[in-house]
Amino acid sequence: MGGSENPLDIALSQLDMVAKQINLDPAIHNRFRKPFKCFIVSIPIRLDDGSVEVFTGYRVHHNTSRGPAKGGIRYHPDVNLDEVIALAMWMTWKCAVVDIPFGGAKGGVACNPKAMSRAELQRLTRRYTSELINVFGPQTDIPAPDVYTNPQIMSWIMDTYSVSIGYVEPSVVTGKPPAVGGTLGRQEATGRGCVFALHSLLKKLGKNIDEQTVAVQGFGKVGYNAADIIRNDGAEVIAVSDSKGGVYNPKGLDTKKLWQFKEESGSVHGYPDGDDLSNEELLELECSILIPAAMENQITEKNADRIKAEIIAEGANGPTTPDADRILLERGKHMLPDIIANAGGVTTSYFEWVQGLERYFWSEDEVNSKLKRIMDLAFENVWEIATRDKVTMRMACYILAVNRVSEAMLLRGLYP
Ligand code: GLU
Repeated sequence: MGGSENPLDIALSQLDMVAKQINLDPAIHNRFRKPFKCFIVSIPIRLDDGSVEVFTGYRVHHNTSRGPAKGGIRYHPDVNLDEVIALAMWMTWKCAVVDIPFGGAKGGVACNPKAMSRAELQRLTRRYTSELINVFGPQTDIPAPDVYTNPQIMSWIMDTYSVSIGYVEPSVVTGKPPAVGGTLGRQEATGRGCVFALHSLLKKLGKNIDEQTVAVQGFGKVGYNAADIIRNDGAEVIAVSDSKGGVYNPKGLDTKKLWQFKEESGSVHGYPDGDDLSNEELLELECSILIPAAMENQITEKNADRIKAEIIAEGANGPTTPDADRILLERGKHMLPDIIANAGGVTTSYFEWVQGLERYFWSEDEVNSKLKRIMDLAFENVWEIATRDKVTMRMACYILAVNRVSEAMLLRGLYP
């Protein structure tokens, strides 16, 4: 009890558990415990008031055995090296679970984007990109959005890189708007993938989607789209929250209207067609599906015994600590772990990268049906391991992922 909430400690303990379970070669295990490369850059920016502030930016490649480094960039005051390494490691496993040809990376800048103007954010993004200009590239390292970054920021990355090399290279970054080489369906992809995985799980459990009540923590691009899509599929979304608080209506919330309300007021808190509730209350609400789609360490040993949802689908990265995981398991909860539940985002990033390299773009239906195929197959692979080895879904995801990355490492061998 009382385990660490440092994401890197958590990522390493998850790796150590799977290493033990599958008797992983210690040489490979040790290699996985350390990131391949970490870059730390200083980003001096002139603020709108004329003063200069120096921000710290990170980019970590955890493992590139299966392909170029892939993963988002986070703008958040709490960003630090340990967190970025953990998130990069989770990207390695995530890309392997869905079997797309990427290694794991993550980046971030410690800043408060909510307190910065558009012009300041643009300067920050361009200087961050420029400091890492030799790191990023369509064959080396492909960033994407993460917490508090968006398609506009991805466009600035694409532009800064393209100006620097002298021609347009859309595939240096994903999560761009379609007007600059982005793919249709990317905005909704993480939420959509999460709902595909939920459909697969419900089917295995013999449950109907239209009998489900859903609570979503985090009403950003992941949480909103997951809520909106699952509602369209027949479930009732009874509560959502964001960093300022939440709203609850047992009869169901209109997710689109709620999104509009948040766009205008800055939060879902105070939405007239429901009652106020706090983030903590949302997690412990009477519902059948809980989707934590905000930050790490939301479900811990402090609240795990009060979670009432039967199914937890991790839209966010690392929302559940290992202690909480154990408690939820003992209580018979079904867990859809982050490295499968939110893998729809990077899978559609893969589609965006392919389309950009070929300069040939697909219809939204094509993107979504390819996403469904990959998510369904990944779920079946994980379910099969969980049943065969009598392990949790999280352990099954890790077994699948770690075996795939190990195989690639062993085949490539050690250089020199
Ligand atoms: N940041 C997202 C994630 O954690 C997307 C990464 C990507 O598309 O490369 O999966």
